[in-house]
Amino acid sequence: MRTIEPNQVRPVWAEISASRLATNFRHTRAAAGMELLAVIKADAYGHGAELCAPILAGAGAAWLGVTSVEEGVRVKASLGMLPHFLMPRILVMCGVWNGEAAVAVEHGLTPVVWEEYQLRLLEEAARKRSLAPGSFAIHVEVDTGMARQGVLDLAAFAALLAEDSPLRIEGVMTHLGSTEEADSPLNHEQMHRFASQVSASKLHLDWVHAGNTSGVDAAQILTEIKSIAATCGAQPMARSGLAMYGYALPLTGDAEPHVHPALQPVMTWKTRVISLRDVPTGATVGYNATFTAPQPMRLALIPVGYADGLRRELSNRGHVLVHGQHAKIVGRVSMDLTILDVTNIPGAAIGDEVTLIGDGVPVEEQAALAGTIPYEILCGISDRVPRMVVE
Ligand SMILES: *Cc1c(COP(=O)(O)O)cnc(C)c1O
Repeated sequence: MRTIEPNQVRPVWAEISASRLATNFRHTRAAAGMELLAVIKADAYGHGAELCAPILAGAGAAWLGVTSVEEGVRVKASLGMLPHFLMPRILVMCGVWNGEAAVAVEHGLTPVVWEEYQLRLLEEAARKRSLAPGSFAIHVEVDTGMARQGVLDLAAFAALLAEDSPLRIEGVMTHLGSTEEADSPLNHEQMHRFASQVSASKLHLDWVHAGNTSGVDAAQILTEIKSIAATCGAQPMARSGLAMYGYALPLTGDAEPHVHPALQPVMTWKTRVISLRDVPTGATVGYNATFTAPQPMRLALIPVGYADGLRRELSNRGHVLVHGQHAKIVGRVSMDLTILDVTNIPGAAIGDEVTLIGDGVPVEEQAALAGTIPYEILCGISDRVPRMVVE
């Protein structure tokens, strides 16, 4: 992720609000009523993991969740200056592979494991560093119904660790597949299987965690996390990613969302008008002339396209803010360029700031137009858009 050198790059950038990120974290943790792991995987959902990690740590996050060992190492480096008591633990959520194990051990990351080969790779790496028995913490994921990551038999998996293994199962977790369907019986079924697995394993644990942003909205899931944790001497923890960045999926059923209303979008994706032109009735716009001016129009050009992550499905359908006023995207979104109708924004001028995503241009709307979820829109804003932290 590049950080910005003002005035030396093309005018396309994403502002990351430090205060909103910190507030969203604190609000969601309070709503969960327990420790909250802040998920910053996939480069903090496109917000920049190395920018977000120190802000979340400063807001009191005790745990951060990353995708990979490589991302964990970068995040750890970004936290380098923090005093030890503020240093969050880093959970590597999507497995360890070959050489990654040694790097995870070296940097003190905490991997989630569920395959025997992952245990063996980590044991070998820990022994090479002469770690004492039980000194390297791992978390085990239990598959309770997604058929994705996770063990089906926690007791049998735990038994794969010899008495003198350098590894110690410090935490167990599961992931729920339907939390935004608040009345889905699957949520309770998954938690029920999780409870049985944890109890049958007889493990003594420090952490038991589950859920995601929509899970924090579900009182029953939170109660179940707490009760499972209580049976094995562990602290309960919820996890949340999307809410950190200011969003939550609408809940189905008649559930009352208590997380969503107070969240504020952290990212404002901006650009500037780089060209303006007046076109006559009948002028065709963009690739394949998918738009024809029905009357004389004023068009503005912005230097952003689908290579930046502005979805092509927004062609002739999406809108952005120019001067705080809505401007429709006309014609096809091109790779690097997009054309806006500013006929009704008489003050529009070259250099005007344009908001592509942020207050007044919700990511949910772009997601709906693109037939996807807000997560994919945020993760899809490409690396060539520099991110900068603002207040
Ligand atoms: C991504 C992820 C989360 C966070 O999900 P959100 O819906 O963004 O809150 C939580 N747990 C696991 C295991 C995940 O992979």
